[in-house]
Amino acid sequence: MPPLELKHESVWWSTLTPVEQAELSRDDGLAPQPDVLVVGGGIIGLALAQALAAQKQSVQLIEQGTLGGGATAGSAGGVWPADQGPFHPPEFGPLALLSRDLWGRLSLKPDFNLDWRVNGFLTVNPERFQGDAPGFAAQAQELGYTVHAIDAEQVARLEPRLAPAPAGGIHCPSDAHLHPLKGAVSFARAARRGKARLAIQTKLLEIERVAGRVVSVRTSRGECRPRHLVMCTGHEAVLPAGVLRPVWGQLIATDPLPPLMKCTIGGPFLTLQLKTGEVVTGGTQAEGRNEAPDAELSAKLAEGARRLLPDVADLRFTRAWCGVRSATRDGLPIIDRAAGVENEWLAVGHHRNGLLLAPGTADLLARWMLTDEQPEELQGFGLQRLLG
Ligand SMILES: Cc1cc2nc3c(=O)[nH]c(=O)nc-3n(C[C@H](O)[C@H](O)[C@H](O)COP(=O)(O)OP(=O)(O)OC[C@H]3O[C@@H](n4cnc5c(N)ncnc54)[C@H](O)[C@@H]3O)c2cc1C
Repeated sequence: MPPLELKHESVWWSTLTPVEQAELSRDDGLAPQPDVLVVGGGIIGLALAQALAAQKQSVQLIEQGTLGGGATAGSAGGVWPADQGPFHPPEFGPLALLSRDLWGRLSLKPDFNLDWRVNGFLTVNPERFQGDAPGFAAQAQELGYTVHAIDAEQVARLEPRLAPAPAGGIHCPSDAHLHPLKGAVSFARAARRGKARLAIQTKLLEIERVAGRVVSVRTSRGECRPRHLVMCTGHEAVLPAGVLRPVWGQLIATDPLPPLMKCTIGGPFLTLQLKTGEVVTGGTQAEGRNEAPDAELSAKLAEGARRLLPDVADLRFTRAWCGVRSATRDGLPIIDRAAGVENEWLAVGHHRNGLLLAPGTADLLARWMLTDEQPEELQGFGLQRLLG
């Protein structure tokens, strides 16, 4: 396969309006004594800033780059609890389903312009359901997910442009999609409306803890003395060795095309068409960090999409990008109080599902911080399970 010449940029930044781009690049400065200091301006930190500001907390967020510039900018934008859930431990379900519903509700609010669509997820890769779609669907339904087995004819009716799927497929009609950076912009806007300050180009350097409490935080811009500190630092989180590992992934996209398909398709890779017309494919997983897209991998992704949509004559890819997500060994995030520190919290390790899980993580963690009672849904997400 000849390598493709693609621009190294994600489809997300260029499909924001200038106003939205400015919202992610705006700096509100640093307050010296907020109720809560959130470190990290990805989707998790921004969702939390919004949830806490909605509870009348004075919130300061600091981000070393620009808002949404980490793994969030690399994401595919999938909100896919039913496609993902059957492959995760049971604790995933309640958080993922709650979070999916919160996204649906947020999408109705005036600040939240997300390109939200409940377009469903259709898996036609028989390896994923071990060639037994009805058996797989029955098990997933037992776990509470909205999943149906469909035969080859139903696949063809649902997505007529797809190559024939002799083994049929798995359809998750309530799985959804959003524009990840519009998600980041929306949370930033709502947080600011709640008087949160979001500081960019501001790095956390050192934490001073005394007698089991954070008393002061040194940043590249000066000192901050918050009542609570929350680390939402993605794959840069500082944790005992082996707790988090970096996993990089790659995506490629076309320019806008006329409507070709509705669902997100799980084939050899995932493939979907955005509301704005671009076809996006990829979502690969490889251990480690990689800053720049791999040309051979781009060619392989493009070839996979052409096989999936064989009668689309001009499926020409123009952009490629990659991102690094942080993974734990059980695939679940860490949403917990830091060990032995009363007022320090962690929300990291969301791996392939940070977009999906952001509103649920934020609402439940905010509730825990404010009531000092751990919500039941967060009981399986402690750091301790990953130590030793
Ligand atoms: C290719 C790919 C496809 C994906 N597809 C999906 C998908 O379809 N659906 C889904 O739900 N998820 C998906 N994900 C995963 C999702 O993108 C992540 O789980 C999510 O973005 C994690 O958000 P975060 O806020 O934890 O991390 P990030 O977005 O990485 O944000 C962390 C931020 O912390 C900042 N930071 C770190 N250290 C410091 C410091 N010391 N001081 C100040 N700031 C600091 C970083 O600069 C960064 O901006 C995908 C990821 C990739 C790479």
